[in-house]
Amino acid sequence: MSANPFETSLATLKKASEIAGVDPNVVKMLSQPKRVMEFTIPMKMDNGELQIFTAYRVQYNDALGQTKDGTRVVPDLDLDTVKALGFWMTIKHAVAGIPAGGGKGGIKADPRELSEGEYERLIRAYIRKLPVKGAWVDIPGADIGTSAKTQAWMLDEYEEIMGFHSPAAINDKPAEVNGTLGSTEATGTGAYYVTKEVVKDLGLPAGARVAIQGFGNVGRNAALLLHKDGFKVVAVGDIYGGIYSPEGIDVEKLVEHVNKTGSVVDFPGTSKISTMDVLEVDCEILLPAAVQSVITEKNAAKVKAKLIMECANGPVTPEGEAILEERGVTIVPDVLTNCGSAIVCSFERTQGLTDTYWDLETVLEKLRERITKAYRETAEAAKKYNTTYRYGAWINALTKIGKAMKFRGWI
Ligand code: NAD
Repeated sequence: MSANPFETSLATLKKASEIAGVDPNVVKMLSQPKRVMEFTIPMKMDNGELQIFTAYRVQYNDALGQTKDGTRVVPDLDLDTVKALGFWMTIKHAVAGIPAGGGKGGIKADPRELSEGEYERLIRAYIRKLPVKGAWVDIPGADIGTSAKTQAWMLDEYEEIMGFHSPAAINDKPAEVNGTLGSTEATGTGAYYVTKEVVKDLGLPAGARVAIQGFGNVGRNAALLLHKDGFKVVAVGDIYGGIYSPEGIDVEKLVEHVNKTGSVVDFPGTSKISTMDVLEVDCEILLPAAVQSVITEKNAAKVKAKLIMECANGPVTPEGEAILEERGVTIVPDVLTNCGSAIVCSFERTQGLTDTYWDLETVLEKLRERITKAYRETAEAAKKYNTTYRYGAWINALTKIGKAMKFRGWI
């Protein structure tokens, strides 16, 4: 990812639009957010000192419906990052066929430096001071630095302000507080469903070898499902290092090992490699599921996989992608591969609005249907415009958003 993530997303918008001849007015409208909110949260800390936090919320574009998505609480948050994330969510929702626009928000703060009480007060104050919000306008969810626990605080604060229950106003809540089942496993499961479809289309062998960087929520859930389905997971890495076994790793046992030791490192029967080596092992499918910008112009030529499923956001840089494209490596972009959580969040809103809560099987089956359709549409657009899956996904999204803008009379 370049220094300015918003510039990067605008560059992808420009290129996708050129490939498909998208109406320049669609590009113009999508080059700027609809609404940007920047505000301060003054708060008395436990020691009595007054601290002033900067907070943001960007409602990027709502042609397809109310805006929604996460709240990031990190010390180095800036407005351009929030704008880029809001823009990505606009595209991701459109790719996934979710009738919603994209929003993102956050607070410039380090949760590790706050007491539990300070953190709760900060999160509640964020909701109180957020000028525009609600189930039919903009729905904050979780992101880095927030969790089901913060989302329960947000919901409680919102409902206190309004004086009535409104579970559809906040996303990523615990199931016990009108949330949805399946939100924990949504992204890894969605990535697995898409991988299955692409493997079929590319004619990759049954039992294809898989390498996974990142064994957290996303990597672990995808790994478990792939392993259970007969794929051979040969390498796994986390922040502490990597492991490799050409014979295949028993992922269920690996989960037990990680639960006990905190890392994949030293899993019996595997050899030790670095977490960056995981990206270069002999395999057919690579899942970068940790952080952004891990495949660059420096290591792209050494990647042996034929298929890269972008589980993390932006794991392949544009320079790395150019090298991989030249070598015929297929990349399934983040906006499609990891849109499972966005899909299940939209199910959460539907359940909250209808006061009807689904069992896990129903959630996952609806996720499978929705994400498979998103992949098929992306593949069709890529074929029609003779381009990559990345631009296929963006073109699919821009087509839907553009049509909505035209019907609304915006352009
Ligand atoms: P997580 O915190 O649960 O796990 C992250 C994993 O990556 C851990 O195994 C960690 O050890 C490893 N890791 C962290 N830094 C690393 C580094 N520098 N090098 C190698 N490994 C490293 O996170 P997650 O929820 O699994 O998310 C993984 C990625 O997917 C993130 O980029 C996130 O933004 C993206 N994503 C997550 C979701 C979701 O629903 N959780 C949705 C969309 C996108």
